[in-house]
Amino acid sequence: MRKTLWTKMAAAALVVLVFAFGACAETRNQWDGQRAKYVFVFIGDGLGLQQVNSAEVYKGSMDPQGSEPAIKKLTLSGLPVQGMITTYSTNSFITDSAPAATALASGYKTENGVIGMDATKTKKFTSVAKMAHDKGMRVGIITTVSLNHATPASYYASQASRNDYYEIGEQLIGSGFDYFAGGGIHQATGKKKDRKDLYDVAKEAGYSVLRTRDDILGAAPGTKLIAVNPVIDGSNAMPYDMDRTEKELSLAEFTKKGIELLDNPNGFFMMVEGGKIDWACHANDAASAIHDTLAFDESVKVAVDFAEAHPDETLIVVVGDHETGGMSIGFAGTQYETFFNKVSYQSESYESFDRKIAEFKKRPDAERTFDNMMPLINEVFGLKTASADERKALGEKAKAGDREAGKELAMVLSDLELGEVRAAYERSMQGEEERSKDEATYLLYGGYEPLSVKLTQILNQKSGIGWTTYAHTGIPVPIFAGGVGSDLFAGYYDNTDVAWKTMSIIGVN
Ligand SMILES: [Zn+2]
Repeated sequence: MRKTLWTKMAAAALVVLVFAFGACAETRNQWDGQRAKYVFVFIGDGLGLQQVNSAEVYKGSMDPQGSEPAIKKLTLSGLPVQGMITTYSTNSFITDSAPAATALASGYKTENGVIGMDATKTKKFTSVAKMAHDKGMRVGIITTVSLNHATPASYYASQASRNDYYEIGEQLIGSGFDYFAGGGIHQATGKKKDRKDLYDVAKEAGYSVLRTRDDILGAAPGTKLIAVNPVIDGSNAMPYDMDRTEKELSLAEFTKKGIELLDNPNGFFMMVEGGKIDWACHANDAASAIHDTLAFDESVKVAVDFAEAHPDETLIVVVGDHETGGMSIGFAGTQYETFFNKVSYQSESYESFDRKIAEFKKRPDAERTFDNMMPLINEVFGLKTASADERKALGEKAKAGDREAGKELAMVLSDLELGEVRAAYERSMQGEEERSKDEATYLLYGGYEPLSVKLTQILNQKSGIGWTTYAHTGIPVPIFAGGVGSDLFAGYYDNTDVAWKTMSIIGVN
């Protein structure tokens, strides 16, 4: 009898357990509490846990409190709620930015390359930003890459191909959103440069277009604004944060200006993208990725400061759309050790160094030698060459406690590394157009300027950072949240759920 009762109780307990765990498998997307009036969605393009943690380890390494390893948390990783999301698209475990952002913005999966539409390219999705705008909230879209690039586009456009920049640009203007800021409009006159300039179309639609730091910072609320960073590259993206000059704006400044322009009694929705974390990771350049992650984090800090003044009305969500580069903390050559302080020897991005290589190539034949390139390499990456005798002498000094000698020795290229750098230099001097077509060459340099990519890889490896790809990876990425309704973001769920949760907390559907 007793046994039967116990068995029944155990069975009942088991049922409860199954229900409890069953409930965990399904994430909760409905918010029944107070609606959020001010909503920030920060998307770190390519921001996996590795990219977040690399920035934390870097910050900790630059300001060591003792001999033990210590990280310094970022503002974003200090947000009170954490979760994890799957990122796959309808046709691949490895998504690209178009379906990833479409899922975050609209709540549906689609195929790689498609913006705001289903995989058959017939059904258009509605984004949370459009819903918020229809509700009367002001909307801001801020990015470090072009304004009509895949991630920002997913918040206002439906287009079969992410490469249809002109059509996406037309939809940007048609959205009527209040504030577009950061990069410029890519291919503003179309692929063949034969279309009406989209900046003119924007002005006719009532947008002001501002392009200097003073004009942008001086803009007053009330007009719809397209604010383009004073320096943009050929793809209409802002420079990497480590290359930023005084006449430009940081992502944090664009975010702060956005708050000033968008604040109104109906509230606002703002999407802020750190778009070049991804680009740096494609190029396997940890220094550029870390500095752009820190700049992205500064913009999150702006929102957190705002939330402190509006604690019961603000939601902040920070999420990666996928991981890029297969970055890791740990490299075969450095085994159980890391030396993140070496990342700080790099003084500019690979992109900036590419331009130095291009200048170098213009030198007369007799001056184009590896020995003449080496001072440039030393200046930008801190790497140096030393003879066997010099290395031996430095080693002995370091052993005797000379810290400077130790630091110098740490940046000396080994024979193996020097061979790789020389090979990459030779390849860069050849100036092939179609480098990535050859399999072996692609695996070595990924279609990038060979010397630049080899130097960042070697500096990263010396720091204990590894890379596995020049593309994206399929592993889940972290999500952080704080403020009104943020509890919904705890757990492990799909990227599409991020949109449903956000919509519910805003009170739109
Ligand atoms: Zn992406």
